[in-house]
Amino acid sequence: MIVNNEPVPTGEWTPSRNPADQKEIVGYVARATITEAERALEAAGRAQQKWARVPVEERAALLRRLAVLLKRDKSELNALEILEAGKSWTEADADVAEAIDFCNFYAVEMRTLGQPKRTQRVAGESNRQHWWPRGVGVVIAPWNFPLAILTGMMSAAIVAGNAVIIKPSEQTSVIAARLMELLIESGLPAGVVNFVSGRGSEVGARLVAHPKVDFVAFTGSKEVGLKIWETAGRTAPGQMNLKKVVCDMGGKNCVIVDDNYDRFLGRLIAATESLRVGPAEEPGAMIGPVIDRQAQQRILEMIEVGRKEAKLTWMGKVPEDANSCYVSPTIFTDVTPGCRIFREEIFGPVLAVTKASDFAEALALANDCEFALTGGCYSRSPANIERVKNEMMCGNVYINRPITGAIVERQPFGGFRMSGGGTKAGGGEYLQHFLAPRVITENCLRRGFAPADEE
Ligand code: NAD
Repeated sequence: MIVNNEPVPTGEWTPSRNPADQKEIVGYVARATITEAERALEAAGRAQQKWARVPVEERAALLRRLAVLLKRDKSELNALEILEAGKSWTEADADVAEAIDFCNFYAVEMRTLGQPKRTQRVAGESNRQHWWPRGVGVVIAPWNFPLAILTGMMSAAIVAGNAVIIKPSEQTSVIAARLMELLIESGLPAGVVNFVSGRGSEVGARLVAHPKVDFVAFTGSKEVGLKIWETAGRTAPGQMNLKKVVCDMGGKNCVIVDDNYDRFLGRLIAATESLRVGPAEEPGAMIGPVIDRQAQQRILEMIEVGRKEAKLTWMGKVPEDANSCYVSPTIFTDVTPGCRIFREEIFGPVLAVTKASDFAEALALANDCEFALTGGCYSRSPANIERVKNEMMCGNVYINRPITGAIVERQPFGGFRMSGGGTKAGGGEYLQHFLAPRVITENCLRRGFAPADEE
């Protein structure tokens, strides 16, 4: 745990384990209590007053220096992702690259937002809108993009002039601690980012409810996101701000494959058979372990549910190792819209395949979903592609390409419905959620006759 750029001793340490080999301990993580978290809040509160007055150029420069350090240590960070999060080599590399992109992109965006803008030209009066930081925030991140998502939310918040507490996922806190070290190395003023590791349901929940917290940036499951949304909506005595919540949650992402269902299924199974499951540190392993024993158990339970409600068409073998958390890629067919595996987020390598009678039905099935994160369609029909563009209900629609791997700035990412508040990480408007708009109106007539406001 780090407050004011100094380590804070805590009583309890929890091991973070390699999900491919649970005997291997990647690091030990401090378990903060609310007392320590409050200390971090105080530090953030004090630091924010000064940080808000630091020129935008300087705040942006901090992110650019962090990007340089992340790039310098890319191989080490990739290795940590592989060992702590079970990411394949390519995915680990992509996650670190995305973290670097977030820093550089938000630095540029803040320089633009930092310029006050005239709202309307009018004689004798100047009207300028500009953006002010919101204050002190809590950044709560998931494990599945352990560096990029944490860095993205944190960097957006601080470049906007806020101070934050970062609360990483319990499963990937070692990677997060490395990020904190790099932040300090990049010249972070004390207290602008404070690192609080510990249980989300304890320390995370208490921080969200705290009256001194002005905003929360969260990415994670629908279950936790909804709790945060609700808690942040309650105003405690002494609270000065309505809490803003930037909330990205789960998904159930559908891909429509236009036509030739039976031929497609044969090819899908053959392709899935070729995916080698194994320790992520082996470059040849395409499917690594799931994050921990609990996730493995939960996914295997959903596979049992699937066996009862649909047809198990393919399931491979995983390396027999009692210390690892593998789940084989699994394909169910004859899945109907009433099935749980059709409706619920499984967050594991389990695919539910449903046959639609025509394209219109396929689209209706895709949209019959409480989530709206990503989705896609493979089709050669311009008419059907046009329908997807107009009608598919999700935040990121991909056509004739995979439905993951959003690039910062190019594909602003995030969903709506139960997938989130539509704030679009890596997009042009993202930073505005970490700022409050302010307008200054000045009567210029006292300076004598002034024609239109020319500045
Ligand atoms: P999770 O919701 O279990 O945990 C996310 C974070 O919330 C963790 O840091 C955890 O410690 C913390 N937390 C847990 N309980 C809390 C509480 N009561 N109050 C405050 N904080 C609490 O999610 P996860 O398993 O780490 O991540 C996987 C989920 O994240 C999936 O549902 C996935 O779809 C979603 N996700 C969404 C996006 C997106 O952009 N929409 C991106 C990545 C992951």
